[in-house]
Amino acid sequence: MSGEVIIVGGGIIGLASAWRCLQAGLTVTVFDPDPTRAAAFAAAGMLTPVTEAYWGEEDLIAVSTASMRRYAGFVAELEAVTGLDVDLRTSGVLVVAFDNDDLEVIEDLFRLHESCGLPSRRLRGRECRAVEPLLTPTTRGGVLAPDDGSVNPRRVLGALSRAVELSGGSLVCQQVRELRIQGDRVEGVLTDDGVAHGADVVVLTAGAWTPLVRGVPEADRPPVRPVKGQILRMTSRLHSHHPGITVRGFVRGSHVYIVPRSDSEVVIGATSEERGFSRQVTGWGVNELLRDALTLIPGLGESELTECRAGLRPGTPDNGPVVGWGRTEGLYLATGHFRHGVLLAPITAEAVAADLAGRPAPAEIGAFRPGRFVGEFVP
Ligand SMILES: Cc1cc2nc3c(=O)[nH]c(=O)nc-3n(C[C@H](O)[C@H](O)[C@H](O)COP(=O)(O)OP(=O)(O)OC[C@H]3O[C@@H](n4cnc5c(N)ncnc54)[C@H](O)[C@@H]3O)c2cc1C
Repeated sequence: MSGEVIIVGGGIIGLASAWRCLQAGLTVTVFDPDPTRAAAFAAAGMLTPVTEAYWGEEDLIAVSTASMRRYAGFVAELEAVTGLDVDLRTSGVLVVAFDNDDLEVIEDLFRLHESCGLPSRRLRGRECRAVEPLLTPTTRGGVLAPDDGSVNPRRVLGALSRAVELSGGSLVCQQVRELRIQGDRVEGVLTDDGVAHGADVVVLTAGAWTPLVRGVPEADRPPVRPVKGQILRMTSRLHSHHPGITVRGFVRGSHVYIVPRSDSEVVIGATSEERGFSRQVTGWGVNELLRDALTLIPGLGESELTECRAGLRPGTPDNGPVVGWGRTEGLYLATGHFRHGVLLAPITAEAVAADLAGRPAPAEIGAFRPGRFVGEFVP
Protein backbone atom coordinates (compact mmCIF):
# COMPACT_ATOMS: atom_id res chain seq x y z
CA MET A 1 0.00 0.00 0.00
CA SER A 2 1.22 3.53 -0.68
CA GLY A 3 1.42 5.38 2.53
CA GLU A 4 -0.68 8.58 3.06
CA VAL A 5 -2.86 7.94 6.11
CA ILE A 6 -5.36 10.33 7.71
CA ILE A 7 -6.54 9.53 11.24
CA VAL A 8 -9.82 11.13 12.32
CA GLY A 9 -9.64 11.58 16.12
CA GLY A 10 -6.61 12.04 18.38
CA GLY A 11 -7.80 10.06 21.41
CA ILE A 12 -5.84 7.12 22.76
CA ILE A 13 -6.79 4.80 19.88
CA GLY A 14 -6.02 7.39 17.17
CA LEU A 15 -2.67 8.41 18.67
CA ALA A 16 -1.48 4.87 19.46
CA SER A 17 -2.45 3.78 15.94
CA ALA A 18 -0.69 6.80 14.43
CA TRP A 19 2.51 5.97 16.31
CA ARG A 20 2.52 2.33 15.21
CA CYS A 21 1.68 3.29 11.57
CA LEU A 22 4.59 5.76 11.52
CA GLN A 23 6.87 3.00 12.80
CA ALA A 24 5.62 0.84 9.89
CA GLY A 25 6.85 3.50 7.45
CA LEU A 26 3.50 5.19 6.66
CA THR A 27 2.92 8.95 6.46
CA VAL A 28 0.37 9.99 9.07
CA THR A 29 -1.74 13.08 9.82
CA VAL A 30 -4.07 13.09 12.85
CA PHE A 31 -7.00 15.54 12.99
CA ASP A 32 -8.66 16.44 16.30
CA PRO A 33 -10.20 19.82 17.24
CA ASP A 34 -10.14 19.16 21.00
CA PRO A 35 -8.17 16.21 22.41
CA THR A 36 -9.33 17.09 25.96
CA ARG A 37 -12.85 15.86 25.16
CA ALA A 38 -11.42 12.36 24.44
CA ALA A 39 -12.79 9.65 26.71
CA ALA A 40 -9.24 8.76 27.73
CA PHE A 41 -8.77 12.30 29.11
CA ALA A 42 -11.54 11.51 31.60
CA ALA A 43 -10.75 7.81 32.07
CA ALA A 44 -9.40 6.19 35.22
CA GLY A 45 -6.92 4.12 33.23
CA MET A 46 -7.54 0.78 34.92
CA LEU A 47 -5.97 -2.18 33.15
CA THR A 48 -8.42 -4.81 34.34
CA PRO A 49 -8.88 -7.80 32.02
CA VAL A 50 -9.51 -9.97 35.10
CA THR A 51 -11.47 -7.83 37.56
CA GLU A 52 -13.66 -6.35 34.79
CA ALA A 53 -14.45 -9.68 33.10
CA TYR A 54 -18.08 -10.67 32.45
CA TRP A 55 -19.77 -13.97 31.60
CA GLY A 56 -20.51 -14.25 27.88
CA GLU A 57 -17.63 -11.90 26.91
CA GLU A 58 -14.95 -14.58 26.40
CA ASP A 59 -13.63 -13.02 23.15
CA LEU A 60 -13.33 -9.68 24.90
CA ILE A 61 -11.51 -11.32 27.81
CA ALA A 62 -9.08 -12.92 25.32
CA VAL A 63 -8.30 -9.66 23.49
CA SER A 64 -8.06 -7.72 26.79
CA THR A 65 -5.66 -10.28 28.24
CA ALA A 66 -3.59 -10.21 25.05
CA SER A 67 -3.39 -6.39 25.22
CA MET A 68 -2.44 -6.53 28.91
CA ARG A 69 0.46 -8.86 28.03
CA ARG A 70 1.73 -6.11 25.70
CA TYR A 71 1.31 -3.22 28.17
CA ALA A 72 4.65 -3.24 29.97
CA GLY A 73 6.55 -3.39 26.66
CA PHE A 74 4.32 -0.70 25.11
CA VAL A 75 4.90 1.65 28.06
CA ALA A 76 8.64 0.93 28.27
CA GLU A 77 9.01 1.80 24.58
CA LEU A 78 6.83 4.92 24.88
CA GLU A 79 8.70 6.17 27.93
CA ALA A 80 12.09 5.49 26.32
CA VAL A 81 11.16 7.34 23.11
CA THR A 82 9.61 10.38 24.85
CA GLY A 83 11.34 10.53 28.23
CA LEU A 84 7.86 10.88 29.81
CA ASP A 85 6.59 8.77 32.74
CA VAL A 86 3.01 7.47 32.31
CA ASP A 87 2.66 5.97 35.82
CA LEU A 88 2.12 2.31 34.95
CA ARG A 89 1.22 0.32 38.09
CA THR A 90 0.98 -3.45 37.88
CA SER A 91 0.69 -4.29 41.54
CA GLY A 92 -2.78 -5.83 41.28
CA VAL A 93 -6.41 -4.79 41.71
CA LEU A 94 -8.65 -5.70 44.66
CA VAL A 95 -12.43 -6.19 44.29
CA VAL A 96 -14.36 -5.98 47.56
CA ALA A 97 -17.91 -6.49 48.82
CA PHE A 98 -19.64 -4.28 51.38
CA ASP A 99 -22.58 -6.50 52.37
CA ASN A 100 -23.67 -10.13 51.96
CA ASP A 101 -25.54 -9.49 48.70
CA ASP A 102 -22.44 -7.78 47.31
CA LEU A 103 -20.45 -10.83 48.36
CA GLU A 104 -22.56 -12.96 46.01
CA VAL A 105 -21.42 -10.77 43.11
CA ILE A 106 -17.81 -11.39 44.18
CA GLU A 107 -18.41 -15.18 44.39
CA ASP A 108 -19.83 -15.10 40.86
CA LEU A 109 -16.82 -13.11 39.59
CA PHE A 110 -14.47 -15.62 41.20
CA ARG A 111 -16.35 -18.53 39.54
CA LEU A 112 -15.85 -16.78 36.19
CA HIS A 113 -12.12 -16.43 36.88
CA GLU A 114 -11.88 -20.12 37.72
CA SER A 115 -13.84 -21.14 34.65
CA CYS A 116 -11.65 -19.02 32.31
CA GLY A 117 -8.37 -19.78 34.10
CA LEU A 118 -7.83 -16.10 34.99
CA PRO A 119 -5.35 -15.39 37.80
CA SER A 120 -7.13 -14.30 41.01
CA ARG A 121 -7.36 -15.16 44.70
CA ARG A 122 -10.47 -15.21 46.91
CA LEU A 123 -9.93 -13.23 50.16
CA ARG A 124 -11.81 -12.91 53.46
CA GLY A 125 -12.66 -9.43 54.77
CA ARG A 126 -9.68 -9.47 57.12
CA GLU A 127 -7.35 -10.43 54.26
CA CYS A 128 -8.71 -7.58 52.11
CA ARG A 129 -7.84 -5.15 54.89
CA ALA A 130 -4.35 -6.58 55.10
CA VAL A 131 -3.93 -5.71 51.40
CA GLU A 132 -5.56 -2.25 51.76
CA PRO A 133 -5.63 -1.10 55.42
CA LEU A 134 -7.78 1.99 54.61
CA LEU A 135 -10.80 -0.24 53.81
CA THR A 136 -13.76 -0.08 56.18
CA PRO A 137 -13.59 -2.77 58.90
CA THR A 138 -16.99 -4.05 57.69
CA THR A 139 -15.57 -5.23 54.32
CA ARG A 140 -17.12 -8.67 53.82
CA GLY A 141 -14.60 -10.24 51.44
CA GLY A 142 -13.05 -9.89 48.03
CA VAL A 143 -10.94 -11.08 45.13
CA LEU A 144 -7.37 -10.03 44.38
CA ALA A 145 -6.22 -10.07 40.75
CA PRO A 146 -2.43 -9.78 41.07
CA ASP A 147 -1.77 -9.00 37.38
CA ASP A 148 -4.34 -6.21 36.86
CA GLY A 149 -3.15 -2.61 37.19
CA SER A 150 -3.50 0.97 36.01
CA VAL A 151 -1.87 3.73 34.03
CA ASN A 152 -2.44 7.49 33.97
CA PRO A 153 -4.26 7.92 30.62
CA ARG A 154 -3.71 11.69 30.45
CA ARG A 155 0.01 11.05 30.65
CA VAL A 156 -0.32 8.33 28.00
CA LEU A 157 -2.11 10.80 25.70
CA GLY A 158 0.69 13.36 26.25
CA ALA A 159 3.42 10.79 25.63
CA LEU A 160 1.72 9.40 22.52
CA SER A 161 1.34 12.93 21.04
CA ARG A 162 5.04 13.47 21.62
CA ALA A 163 5.94 10.07 20.13
CA VAL A 164 3.85 10.81 17.02
CA GLU A 165 5.61 14.15 16.52
CA LEU A 166 9.06 12.65 17.15
CA SER A 167 8.29 9.94 14.56
CA GLY A 168 7.45 12.57 11.93
CA GLY A 169 3.63 12.53 12.18
CA SER A 170 1.44 15.64 12.05
CA LEU A 171 -1.17 16.56 14.68
CA VAL A 172 -3.66 19.06 13.27
CA CYS A 173 -6.17 20.89 15.48
CA GLN A 174 -9.12 20.68 13.06
CA GLN A 175 -12.48 18.92 13.05
CA VAL A 176 -13.06 16.59 10.11
CA ARG A 177 -16.35 17.74 8.61
CA GLU A 178 -16.79 14.86 6.18
CA LEU A 179 -15.16 12.02 4.29
CA ARG A 180 -14.48 12.59 0.61
CA ILE A 181 -15.48 9.58 -1.46
CA GLN A 182 -15.01 9.07 -5.20
CA GLY A 183 -16.98 6.13 -6.58
CA ASP A 184 -16.56 3.39 -3.98
CA ARG A 185 -13.17 4.58 -2.71
CA VAL A 186 -12.14 7.07 -0.02
CA GLU A 187 -10.13 10.03 -1.34
CA GLY A 188 -9.52 11.91 1.89
CA VAL A 189 -11.36 14.31 4.19
CA LEU A 190 -12.73 17.84 4.29
CA THR A 191 -11.95 19.77 7.49
CA ASP A 192 -14.05 22.51 9.12
CA ASP A 193 -11.82 25.24 7.66
CA GLY A 194 -13.00 24.14 4.19
CA VAL A 195 -9.67 22.53 3.20
CA ALA A 196 -9.65 19.15 1.38
CA HIS A 197 -6.91 16.69 2.39
CA GLY A 198 -6.06 13.67 0.22
CA ALA A 199 -5.15 10.24 1.56
CA ASP A 200 -4.81 6.60 0.51
CA VAL A 201 -6.42 5.47 3.75
CA VAL A 202 -8.71 7.22 6.24
CA VAL A 203 -8.86 5.66 9.71
CA LEU A 204 -11.92 6.56 11.80
CA THR A 205 -10.93 6.77 15.48
CA ALA A 206 -13.45 9.38 16.61
CA GLY A 207 -14.65 7.35 19.61
CA ALA A 208 -18.27 8.02 20.60
CA TRP A 209 -18.48 10.70 17.86
CA THR A 210 -17.64 8.24 15.04
CA PRO A 211 -21.26 7.94 13.79
CA LEU A 212 -21.43 11.75 13.49
CA VAL A 213 -18.64 11.98 10.90
CA ARG A 214 -20.48 12.89 7.71
CA GLY A 215 -20.05 11.12 4.40
CA VAL A 216 -19.48 7.62 5.85
CA PRO A 217 -21.52 5.25 3.68
CA GLU A 218 -24.37 3.63 5.61
CA ALA A 219 -22.88 0.13 5.21
CA ASP A 220 -19.72 1.30 6.96
CA ARG A 221 -21.28 3.18 9.86
CA PRO A 222 -20.36 1.34 13.05
CA PRO A 223 -23.16 0.90 15.63
CA VAL A 224 -21.39 3.05 18.21
CA ARG A 225 -23.24 5.09 20.85
CA PRO A 226 -22.06 7.41 23.66
CA VAL A 227 -22.20 5.99 27.20
CA LYS A 228 -21.61 8.80 29.68
CA GLY A 229 -19.30 8.27 32.63
CA GLN A 230 -18.98 10.79 35.46
CA ILE A 231 -15.68 10.60 37.32
CA LEU A 232 -13.99 12.50 40.18
CA ARG A 233 -10.42 13.34 41.08
CA MET A 234 -9.23 13.97 44.62
CA THR A 235 -5.87 14.95 46.07
CA SER A 236 -4.81 13.34 49.31
CA ARG A 237 -2.47 15.62 51.22
CA LEU A 238 -1.66 12.96 53.81
CA HIS A 239 0.07 9.72 52.89
CA SER A 240 -2.06 8.00 55.53
CA HIS A 241 -5.20 8.76 53.45
CA HIS A 242 -3.79 7.53 50.13
CA PRO A 243 -4.79 3.97 49.13
CA GLY A 244 -1.96 1.70 48.03
CA ILE A 245 -3.90 -0.38 45.48
CA THR A 246 -6.80 0.09 43.04
CA VAL A 247 -10.04 -1.01 44.71
CA ARG A 248 -13.19 -1.92 42.80
CA GLY A 249 -16.11 -2.17 45.17
CA PHE A 250 -19.69 -3.34 45.28
CA VAL A 251 -21.63 -1.27 47.80
CA ARG A 252 -25.28 -2.19 48.45
CA GLY A 253 -25.71 -3.27 44.83
CA SER A 254 -23.92 -0.35 43.16
CA HIS A 255 -20.40 -0.28 41.83
CA VAL A 256 -17.52 2.14 42.37
CA TYR A 257 -13.76 2.13 41.84
CA ILE A 258 -10.93 3.99 43.54
CA VAL A 259 -7.66 4.32 41.60
CA PRO A 260 -4.60 5.78 43.36
CA ARG A 261 -1.80 7.30 41.28
CA SER A 262 1.85 7.32 42.28
CA ASP A 263 1.51 11.03 43.14
CA SER A 264 -1.22 12.30 45.50
CA GLU A 265 -4.13 11.89 43.03
CA VAL A 266 -6.98 9.44 43.62
CA VAL A 267 -9.58 8.84 40.89
CA ILE A 268 -13.12 7.79 41.79
CA GLY A 269 -15.44 6.47 39.09
CA ALA A 270 -17.65 6.07 37.32
CA THR A 271 -21.30 6.32 36.43
CA SER A 272 -22.66 4.60 33.33
CA GLU A 273 -25.49 6.53 31.71
CA GLU A 274 -27.30 6.54 28.37
CA ARG A 275 -27.75 10.34 27.92
CA GLY A 276 -26.74 10.97 24.31
CA PHE A 277 -23.83 13.37 23.90
CA SER A 278 -24.40 15.24 27.19
CA ARG A 279 -21.24 15.61 29.28
CA GLN A 280 -22.92 17.38 32.17
CA VAL A 281 -21.70 16.61 35.68
CA THR A 282 -24.72 16.21 37.98
CA GLY A 283 -25.26 16.40 41.73
CA TRP A 284 -26.72 12.93 41.59
CA GLY A 285 -23.61 11.51 39.86
CA VAL A 286 -21.12 13.16 42.23
CA ASN A 287 -23.19 12.17 45.27
CA GLU A 288 -23.43 8.51 44.24
CA LEU A 289 -19.69 8.18 43.59
CA LEU A 290 -18.62 9.93 46.81
CA ARG A 291 -21.20 8.05 48.90
CA ASP A 292 -19.94 4.64 47.75
CA ALA A 293 -16.23 5.51 47.75
CA LEU A 294 -16.39 6.95 51.28
CA THR A 295 -18.36 3.93 52.48
CA LEU A 296 -15.48 1.70 51.37
CA ILE A 297 -12.60 4.01 52.34
CA PRO A 298 -13.88 6.57 54.89
CA GLY A 299 -10.47 8.30 55.12
CA LEU A 300 -10.93 9.64 51.56
CA GLY A 301 -13.33 12.18 53.07
CA GLU A 302 -10.27 14.14 54.23
CA SER A 303 -9.00 14.56 50.66
CA GLU A 304 -9.60 17.62 48.47
CA LEU A 305 -12.11 17.19 45.62
CA THR A 306 -10.16 18.67 42.69
CA GLU A 307 -12.12 17.69 39.57
CA CYS A 308 -15.56 16.47 38.49
CA ARG A 309 -15.83 15.53 34.82
CA ALA A 310 -17.82 13.39 32.42
CA GLY A 311 -16.55 11.51 29.38
CA LEU A 312 -18.23 9.50 26.63
CA ARG A 313 -17.36 5.83 26.21
CA PRO A 314 -17.88 4.55 22.67
CA GLY A 315 -20.30 1.66 23.33
CA THR A 316 -21.29 -1.11 20.89
CA PRO A 317 -24.10 -3.70 20.99
CA ASP A 318 -21.72 -6.50 22.16
CA ASN A 319 -19.41 -4.22 24.22
CA GLY A 320 -16.50 -5.12 21.91
CA PRO A 321 -14.45 -2.78 19.67
CA VAL A 322 -14.76 -2.48 15.90
CA VAL A 323 -11.34 -2.78 14.24
CA GLY A 324 -10.73 -3.41 10.54
CA TRP A 325 -11.36 -2.41 6.94
CA GLY A 326 -14.78 -1.07 5.96
CA ARG A 327 -16.54 -2.03 2.76
CA THR A 328 -15.52 1.25 1.11
CA GLU A 329 -12.01 0.95 -0.27
CA GLY A 330 -9.46 2.87 1.81
CA LEU A 331 -11.77 3.26 4.82
CA TYR A 332 -10.62 1.68 8.10
CA LEU A 333 -12.45 1.66 11.46
CA ALA A 334 -10.91 1.52 14.96
CA THR A 335 -13.62 2.51 17.40
CA GLY A 336 -16.21 1.20 19.88
CA HIS A 337 -13.71 0.38 22.66
CA PHE A 338 -16.37 1.15 25.30
CA ARG A 339 -15.02 0.63 28.86
CA HIS A 340 -11.63 -0.84 27.83
CA GLY A 341 -10.08 1.61 25.34
CA VAL A 342 -7.06 2.42 27.49
CA LEU A 343 -6.38 -1.28 28.07
CA LEU A 344 -6.95 -2.17 24.41
CA ALA A 345 -4.79 0.60 22.91
CA PRO A 346 -1.61 -1.50 22.43
CA ILE A 347 -3.25 -4.42 20.62
CA THR A 348 -5.55 -2.16 18.59
CA ALA A 349 -2.67 0.00 17.40
CA GLU A 350 -0.69 -3.11 16.47
CA ALA A 351 -3.67 -4.42 14.47
CA VAL A 352 -4.21 -1.12 12.65
CA ALA A 353 -0.54 -0.85 11.63
CA ALA A 354 -0.40 -4.53 10.60
CA ASP A 355 -3.57 -4.29 8.48
CA LEU A 356 -2.43 -1.07 6.78
CA ALA A 357 1.04 -2.47 6.11
CA GLY A 358 -0.37 -5.79 4.82
CA ARG A 359 1.01 -7.89 7.67
CA PRO A 360 -0.92 -10.38 9.84
CA ALA A 361 -2.80 -8.72 12.71
CA PRO A 362 -2.96 -10.25 16.23
CA ALA A 363 -5.34 -13.24 16.12
CA GLU A 364 -7.45 -12.01 19.08
CA ILE A 365 -8.66 -9.03 17.00
CA GLY A 366 -10.34 -11.48 14.60
CA ALA A 367 -13.56 -11.54 16.69
CA PHE A 368 -13.89 -7.76 16.45
CA ARG A 369 -13.91 -7.04 12.72
CA PRO A 370 -16.57 -4.58 11.44
CA GLY A 371 -18.34 -7.25 9.36
CA ARG A 372 -20.10 -8.68 12.44
CA PHE A 373 -22.45 -5.68 12.58
CA VAL A 374 -23.51 -5.65 8.93
CA GLY A 375 -27.05 -4.33 8.72
CA GLU A 376 -27.06 -2.93 12.28
CA PHE A 377 -26.97 0.84 12.31
CA VAL A 378 -27.67 2.97 15.36
CA PRO A 379 -27.95 6.67 14.39
C1 LIG B 1 -15.35 7.93 32.92
C2 LIG B 1 -14.59 6.94 32.07
C3 LIG B 1 -13.75 6.03 32.67
C4 LIG B 1 -13.06 5.10 31.88
N1 LIG B 1 -12.18 4.26 32.49
C5 LIG B 1 -11.46 3.38 31.74
C6 LIG B 1 -10.51 2.54 32.34
O1 LIG B 1 -10.32 2.59 33.56
N2 LIG B 1 -9.82 1.67 31.55
C7 LIG B 1 -9.99 1.60 30.20
O2 LIG B 1 -9.35 0.80 29.52
N3 LIG B 1 -10.90 2.42 29.58
C8 LIG B 1 -11.64 3.30 30.32
N4 LIG B 1 -12.55 4.10 29.73
C9 LIG B 1 -12.85 3.92 28.32
C10 LIG B 1 -11.80 4.58 27.43
O3 LIG B 1 -11.55 5.88 27.89
C11 LIG B 1 -12.32 4.62 25.99
O4 LIG B 1 -12.68 3.33 25.56
C12 LIG B 1 -11.23 5.13 25.05
O5 LIG B 1 -10.73 6.36 25.51
C13 LIG B 1 -11.74 5.29 23.64
O6 LIG B 1 -10.70 5.83 22.90
P1 LIG B 1 -10.92 6.48 21.47
O7 LIG B 1 -9.62 7.02 21.04
O8 LIG B 1 -11.64 5.50 20.60
O9 LIG B 1 -12.00 7.65 21.72
P2 LIG B 1 -11.79 9.01 22.47
O10 LIG B 1 -10.76 8.84 23.53
O11 LIG B 1 -13.10 9.51 22.91
O12 LIG B 1 -11.18 9.97 21.36
C14 LIG B 1 -11.93 10.35 20.24
C15 LIG B 1 -11.36 11.67 19.74
O13 LIG B 1 -11.94 11.93 18.45
C16 LIG B 1 -12.10 13.31 18.32
N5 LIG B 1 -13.10 13.57 17.27
C17 LIG B 1 -14.43 13.33 17.32
N6 LIG B 1 -15.02 13.70 16.16
C18 LIG B 1 -14.03 14.18 15.36
C19 LIG B 1 -14.01 14.71 14.05
N7 LIG B 1 -15.13 14.84 13.29
N8 LIG B 1 -12.83 15.16 13.54
C20 LIG B 1 -11.69 15.03 14.28
N9 LIG B 1 -11.65 14.53 15.54
C21 LIG B 1 -12.81 14.10 16.07
C22 LIG B 1 -12.53 13.77 19.71
O14 LIG B 1 -12.25 15.16 19.92
C23 LIG B 1 -11.72 12.86 20.62
O15 LIG B 1 -10.53 13.49 21.06
C24 LIG B 1 -13.24 5.06 30.47
C25 LIG B 1 -14.08 6.00 29.87
C26 LIG B 1 -14.75 6.93 30.66
C27 LIG B 1 -15.64 7.95 30.00
